[in-house]
Amino acid sequence: MTPRGGLVDRFGRAHHDLRISLTDRCSLRCTYCMPAEGVPWLARSTMLSTEEIVRVARVGVDLGIREIRLTGGEPLLRVDVVDVVRRLTALTTPEGEPVEVSLTTNALRMPALAAPLRDAGLTRVNISLDTLDRAKFLQLTRRDKLVETLAGIAAADAAGLHPVKINAVAMRGVNDDEIVALTRFAVDRGYQMRFIEQMPLDGGHTWDRKVMVTQAEMLEQLTSAFTLTEVPGRGAAPAELWYVDGGPHTVGVIASVTAPFCGACDRLRLTADGQLRACLFSQAEVDTREVLRSDEPADVVDEGIAAAYRRCLAGKKAGHDIDDPTFLQPNRPMSAIGG
Ligand code: SAM
Ligand code: SF4
Repeated sequence: MTPRGGLVDRFGRAHHDLRISLTDRCSLRCTYCMPAEGVPWLARSTMLSTEEIVRVARVGVDLGIREIRLTGGEPLLRVDVVDVVRRLTALTTPEGEPVEVSLTTNALRMPALAAPLRDAGLTRVNISLDTLDRAKFLQLTRRDKLVETLAGIAAADAAGLHPVKINAVAMRGVNDDEIVALTRFAVDRGYQMRFIEQMPLDGGHTWDRKVMVTQAEMLEQLTSAFTLTEVPGRGAAPAELWYVDGGPHTVGVIASVTAPFCGACDRLRLTADGQLRACLFSQAEVDTREVLRSDEPADVVDEGIAAAYRRCLAGKKAGHDIDDPTFLQPNRPMSAIGG
């Protein structure tokens, strides 16, 4: 039995949300995420087995985790992703409640996997779609896969993985003229559209504050086409939401750079190679792999994992300081952290 005690950081913030990266590999090469040649991949031997992932998650759930989001890289590239979902959705909180398991994906494997994932207990999905234009999709992701991505979105919808949320990173001169069109696409189908400010996390280190499309710029376009009404009660959600033309559909902006939500953040991250991170932008990581692979008795291993969670939280900073001149981009790219 894992020692309890809660996942509270030094600012008194309780943490309930664990993002687990299932792999750092990906089937696309989005320019804001990775260079064309990819990034140095994690060694296979360092990647957690499904057994190890479930164990770290179980200790987290005993300590207070209530939501798990699977991500990557591209999580659907993990061959046993359905089994991972089935085993994570079987976890229960100390109060006997189920844990909500969702997924962020590029959707390319969704046509084959949507129904099995739903049957394994997956509740909902966030799908990346940055453009509706085939040539731009090729330019942005370096792969000619718009048709397959749209089929993946439709498959997730048909399987009932609701609400389907669509994520787009707005890029100046690339897709920033599609903010209204993407929102219409989502609203017409009952999906929830989310625009994300580009963050300094790409493997190619190409981020430039000056060319980043800001929340203010996105809202200018949105309000020229729609009547937006603020949705109250944001809680710990990263996106600020507005009803589109009176609702019920919403559009959101994740303004991680110009309006960071660090004060309300209740997330922890586990990388595919077993490192716990308190923030996307952390320089520090706390290892779980060594204790997981030790010969210690089960209760000692569980205590070691619980200690890793606590050490990770103890190092959590008040905010990410992207706008501070001393800000340093983390060594790990987004694809190896788990977005
Ligand atoms: N491959 C999956 C996908 O694209 O949805 C999951 C992993 S991806 C790293 C998770 C999210 O991070 C995606 O919505 C993607 O658009 C976003 N993302 C990646 N690089 C980013 C960056 N530099 N700034 C902002 N968001 C980024
Ligand atoms: Fe792959 Fe997602 Fe990164 Fe695009 S954003 S390259 S789909 S991990």
